[in-house]
Amino acid sequence: MRDKMKCAVIGATGMVGQRFLTLLENHPYFQVTGVVASPRTAGKTYEEAVEGRWKMKTPIPEEVRKMVIINSENIDEVKAIADFVFCAVDLPKDETRALEERYAKAEIPVISNNSAHRWTSDVPMVIPEINDHHLEVIKSQRERLGTTRGFIAVKPNCSIQSYVPALTPLRKYGIKQVLVTTYQAISGAGKTFDTWPEMVDNVIPYIGGEEEKSEKEPLKIWGDVRGGTIIEAKAPLISTQCIRVPVSDGHTAAVFVSFENTPPRETILEEWKNFRGLPQMLELPSAPAQFVTYHDEDNRPQAKLDRDLYGGMGVSIGRLRPDTIFDYKFVGLSHNTLRGAAGGAVLIAELLYRQGYLD
Ligand code: NAP
Repeated sequence: MRDKMKCAVIGATGMVGQRFLTLLENHPYFQVTGVVASPRTAGKTYEEAVEGRWKMKTPIPEEVRKMVIINSENIDEVKAIADFVFCAVDLPKDETRALEERYAKAEIPVISNNSAHRWTSDVPMVIPEINDHHLEVIKSQRERLGTTRGFIAVKPNCSIQSYVPALTPLRKYGIKQVLVTTYQAISGAGKTFDTWPEMVDNVIPYIGGEEEKSEKEPLKIWGDVRGGTIIEAKAPLISTQCIRVPVSDGHTAAVFVSFENTPPRETILEEWKNFRGLPQMLELPSAPAQFVTYHDEDNRPQAKLDRDLYGGMGVSIGRLRPDTIFDYKFVGLSHNTLRGAAGGAVLIAELLYRQGYLD
């Protein structure tokens, strides 16, 4: 095994940043060597900066407790201590886009949780089990940025990970139409029941920008690489409603789907059982042994029981049955801050590392 690569987390004090630090503690490939945030917290030690806002169930990792936070504008300082960065910041989109591009142009690879670059056509938006081949656009992105090392790779929105993994192995049957309602946890808004008491005993039928992302992002994930850019898939037509529900973690999706060539139920179950991606073949440290798991019980998957499957990186499915309007309906579930956020980004980094993109 080579020496561990050094990484910094930009937005290290936030909810996703905290999750990154927790996941990266004792990571076999990566070592956290820097914590980066806004000028508001720069100069404080990490433990001072997160006092009263540490949201993880485990304590602050010892390796970062006494680290002094670096201002994200001080790119040279970050470059001196880190080989690449993870980024999860709460900034307007244009500022995030510019910040990430400044790091990439300074030859620091950026693996981002933010949505700012999801629609940049030479930036791969990756679920490693599904579209690892999109990483090849990094070559043309580097040409555009004028870099030899620096580039940006992003992960998609958390909502889509509860149904896109289930639909992907069924695309060969010609998916015509998909209707999805997502039931999304409050941690997706960076909240807990303490910080968002209005969510107790409540349902809110609106999450800003979420339905558009949930309908469009799968088409980029399922797209082809041509001429150094990613060309979105033209089908299927996807319609979504995204609803906030009183659940701490775990996004559920109720999915309806129609096909050109409708497969038998047994075939769908076989496709899910056999669905493996490169992370499973390479046995990446964060990869779940089984990407999608079908639960036979009528009352599964449940957020509380199933969100932590394979350390929150496995996707659960249940209740596959014929529908009266569509061909089939089923229910999906994934952990929104693990598979859907920091865990998904760490898995991308592991894949990039194993494929030599971080060298
Ligand atoms: P958060 O808890 O509000 O944390 C925001 C972080 O951004 C803090 O560390 C903050 O640092 C930092 N920040 C703000 N301005 C900055 C600047 N100019 N330079 C560097 N850092 C700056 O937000 P979050 O929930 O972690 O979300 C972060 C990003 O991840 C957002 O884009 C969000 O949409 C995305 N995301 C979140 C989830 C989720 O489940 N929560 C899921 C997927 C994606 P200070 O402490 O210095 O203010």
